Amino acid sequence: MIELFLFAFWAKIGILSYMVIRMRHTRAHTGNRRSHHALKAKTFSICTNCTKPKETHVVCKNCGFYRGRKVLDVVNKVEKKQAKKKAK
Ligand SMILES: [Zn+2]
Repeated sequence: MIELFLFAFWAKIGILSYMVIRMRHTRAHTGNRRSHHALKAKTFSICTNCTKPKETHVVCKNCGFYRGRKVLDVVNKVEKKQAKKKAK
């Protein structure tokens, strides 16, 4: 009877849902760990070739240029993708 009561009590507190954790951490400990979990907004720069916003240090997805040099054949890539989709 007492076990049943304890089980219901733990379930109500929420202990049963995370019983895998070996040792309890304080709220401060958890908070300190999670202080690094925030996501940062991506920074964008303007493409020198097509003047559209692009991710920094990444090939421009609009024209395929990187640092003034053509790296990606965007048109060819799109055509390939469409052909692959058609083949399915
Ligand atoms: Zn571009």
